[in-house]
Amino acid sequence: MAKLYFYYSAMNAGKSTTLLQSGYNYVERGMQVLLFAPCIDNRFGKVAIHSRIGLTQDAVGFDNDTDFFAFALQQKELLPNLTCVLIDEVHFLKKEQIKQLTKITTELRIPVLCYGLRSDFRGEPFEGSSYLLAWAEELTEIKTICHCGKKATMNIRIDAKGLAIEEGDQVQVGGNESYVSSCMTHFREFNKTFSQIHSTQTVEIS
Ligand SMILES: [Zn+2]
Repeated sequence: MAKLYFYYSAMNAGKSTTLLQSGYNYVERGMQVLLFAPCIDNRFGKVAIHSRIGLTQDAVGFDNDTDFFAFALQQKELLPNLTCVLIDEVHFLKKEQIKQLTKITTELRIPVLCYGLRSDFRGEPFEGSSYLLAWAEELTEIKTICHCGKKATMNIRIDAKGLAIEEGDQVQVGGNESYVSSCMTHFREFNKTFSQIHSTQTVEIS
């Protein structure tokens, strides 16, 4: 049965490497796959998936206007052995696009493997990821570690001097130079805005 899968992690855990390996496993067996990567990530001049250990693969670019279901339906005619859809940086998708992915699994019966972050550098959930956490049939964490050795679940955005940035636009694709993955203890230490806890008013029920 075709399912919607969400492989989530903090930055620099090897999501793209895992995606490319999974895609390769299908192709090696004579199957065809569709790879997607965001158009906003133009650090490398073209739409491709780059892993930090040096693997690269061309991909179909997406933005918030991409209709994943319509595209997959069209490609199914051209690729008779289309077996799997893989999407990198899936956190950039909108709610409607995650719905399109569910439709690919139920109507085209093609599994969709999604790779992305859960939360941004402010600790806020990405729209795409929050709906994947709600709707994906399989959730898998790709683990990485904080500098202290604990599991990293959060992402810190740092400037050129290595100082944490607490505010700003959610969408700014970076590499090693601008993001550090961390455990919750160190995320709270670096991000003072996140760590502020507002006192709640006590409500007396008579
Ligand atoms: Zn830590």
